[in-house]
Amino acid sequence: MVVPILVFHKIGPVPPDSRYPRNSVRAEQFDALLKSLKGAGYEGIGFAQYLAHRRGEATLPRKPIILTFDDGYRSNADIAVPIMRTHGFTATIFVIPGLLGQTNRWDADEPQEPLLSADEVRALHAEGFSFGSHTLTHARLTAVAPDRALHELRASREALEALLGEPVTTICYPWAQHDAGVRRLAREAGYACGVEIRRRLNRDDTDLMVLHRIPVTYLDSTWRIRWDLFRLQFRRS
Ligand SMILES: [Zn+2]
Repeated sequence: MVVPILVFHKIGPVPPDSRYPRNSVRAEQFDALLKSLKGAGYEGIGFAQYLAHRRGEATLPRKPIILTFDDGYRSNADIAVPIMRTHGFTATIFVIPGLLGQTNRWDADEPQEPLLSADEVRALHAEGFSFGSHTLTHARLTAVAPDRALHELRASREALEALLGEPVTTICYPWAQHDAGVRRLAREAGYACGVEIRRRLNRDDTDLMVLHRIPVTYLDSTWRIRWDLFRLQFRRS
């Protein structure tokens, strides 16, 4: 089974003063992409369902896809969620439990934007959206001491589980930075899978701690993403 995972950050206008304009996808672009995916028969799944499939305990739809959002900006709830609702998709949002209701402080010289609050996370969860951890403070796990990395991983999972009342299985490595040591700590902290950013699809033998996600930016047309989803089926590793 081949499972694509897409990664978005913000849906909305591209901020003119941003150093990372590629973290934005315009609303009309997102709407067109989801409409196209729906029309092509893609069905959104979550990591719990994907992990059950990898354990041989669940059957996936014929064309599964996982939509993910990094950082948990409030604009996800305001702009992306209504568009996903229209097309019948949900998503997994990777939030930073130590910064809920605050701003993207880890990008000090970037325009600051509000992040989802704990109440907003709970409301989206009740509506069928899933959540994973993006560490406690958006820590660069490959650069901090192992005990600090383990704390970032474990305490964020525990905080999120307390907030949602269910197991949190997935870690999204900040800045997609990970190495063998970080992946070992992530397993030790109780995660069943981890996600990075790489233009590849996932197969039944893909390392669960290094699941690949295709980035979508304001530069990517629907056609480009659909073409990637097609051509990458024939590409190994
Ligand atoms: Zn991030």
